[in-house]
Amino acid sequence: MHKVLHELKVDLGDRSYPITIGQGLLGVIDLTPWVAGQQVMIVTNNTVGPLYLEKARASFPGKTVDVVVLPDGEKYKDWQTLNLIFDALLENRHTRKTTLVALGGGVVGDMAGFAAASYQRGVPFIQIPTTLLSQVDSSVGGKTGINHPLGKNMVGAFHQPQAVLIDTDSLQTLPAREVSAGLAEVIKYGLIRDDAFLLWLEAEMDKLVGLQPEALAEAIFRSCQCKADVVALDEREGGIRAILNLGHTFGHAIETFAGYGSWLHGEAVGTGMMMAADLSVREGFISSADFRRTAALIKRAGLPAFAPASMKEADFLNLMAVDKKNVDGQLRLVLLRALGDAFVTDEAKPEHLRQTLGAFLP
Ligand code: NAD
Ligand code: MG
Repeated sequence: MHKVLHELKVDLGDRSYPITIGQGLLGVIDLTPWVAGQQVMIVTNNTVGPLYLEKARASFPGKTVDVVVLPDGEKYKDWQTLNLIFDALLENRHTRKTTLVALGGGVVGDMAGFAAASYQRGVPFIQIPTTLLSQVDSSVGGKTGINHPLGKNMVGAFHQPQAVLIDTDSLQTLPAREVSAGLAEVIKYGLIRDDAFLLWLEAEMDKLVGLQPEALAEAIFRSCQCKADVVALDEREGGIRAILNLGHTFGHAIETFAGYGSWLHGEAVGTGMMMAADLSVREGFISSADFRRTAALIKRAGLPAFAPASMKEADFLNLMAVDKKNVDGQLRLVLLRALGDAFVTDEAKPEHLRQTLGAFLP
C-alpha cells in the first residue's frame, strides 16, 4: 500500500522543485520524470544501501542505474570519500546528462549534492532523504558540501535538487536517538515561526516518537513548508534565514565540547533551544510558563536537558565566541520574542547569558 500524503513546492523561481511526502513511496513512485537523460547514479552508504537500495532502483524504470556505496559516518564527509563518487561517475562514463540520486541521511545528501554541483560543472540530482533530520532540514534549501579537517561544511556550493521524495516508512529502521535528533529541528520550526504548529506538536508528540506514519508525514510537511518559506525569503542567508539557527550557537558549543559524534547535532540543538528560551525569559521577552512549555516538549521528544558532564561556563563562552553568526566580535544569538516568533540579536546582556549557562550546567 502506498499513500502520497502531502506535496509542496519549494519556490525558488527557475530553481523551484517539488517535495512529495508519504508512506510506501520508495520504489513505487516513478522518479524518471525528473531524470533528463538515460543515466542515473545512486549515491548511498553501507548502512542505508542494504536496507533501501533495491527499492530505490525500482523508482527508475528503464534507466541505466549505477550505484556508489560510501562508508557510513560524518567522518567520511571529506574529499577522499567525495572522490569515490567522481571515480564511479567517470569509470561508468557518466556524461553531463546524468542524474545523481542521494539515498541516505544528511551526510549522503550533502555529499551527493556537492558532487552534483561540481561534476562536469553541475548536473541534476534527486534527494531521497532517509533520516528525519534530512527530511525536515537538509533536503530543503540547497546547501551541499563536505567538511575540511579545520572546519565543518567549509567546502560546498548551493545546488537545488530536481525533486525530493520522502518516504516515512524509511524512518521505521532509524535508531531512536536519530529520531529524537530530527524532532529537535521539527520543534525548532514551531518555535521560530509557527505557534499553531507548536500546539499541534504538543498534542501529537507521542505519536511522532512512536513513528505513526500520518503524524510523521504531517510534521515533515509543516517543517519543510516552514523551511521552504524562510529559504524562499532569503536563499543565500543574508538575513531572516539566520533564525533557522535557533539553539544552534549553544548547540555547536556543546557538540564541539563533547567531541563530534558523542552528542548528535539534534540533541545539542534540543538543549540549545532550551537555553535560548531560558535567555529569552531573562531578557524579558517570553514568560516562565512559555519556557516550561518549550522545555517540556523538547524533553518529550527524548532530548537531553543539560549540557554534558564537566562542561563549564568558560567552555561555552570560548566556543560560542567563534560562531559564524558573530559580527565584529559581538555574540549574535537567535532568541524568542514569543513562542512562534524568533529574532536575531547581539544585545543579550552578558549577566543574563551567564545566568542561563549556569542554569544548564550539569
Ligand atoms: P547521517 O546522514 O549521518 O545519518 C545518521 C545515521 O543514520 C547514519 O549512520 C546513517 O547511515 C543512518 N541512517 C540513515 N537513514 C537510515 C534509515 N532509514 N534507517 C537506519 N539508519 C539510517 O546524519 P543526518 O542527521 O541525517 O545528517 C547530518 C548531516 O546533515 C551533517 O553532515 C550536517 O552537516 C548535514 N546537514 C545539512 C543541512 C543542509 O542544509 N544541507 C542541514 C542540516 C544538516
Ligand atoms: Mg541544525
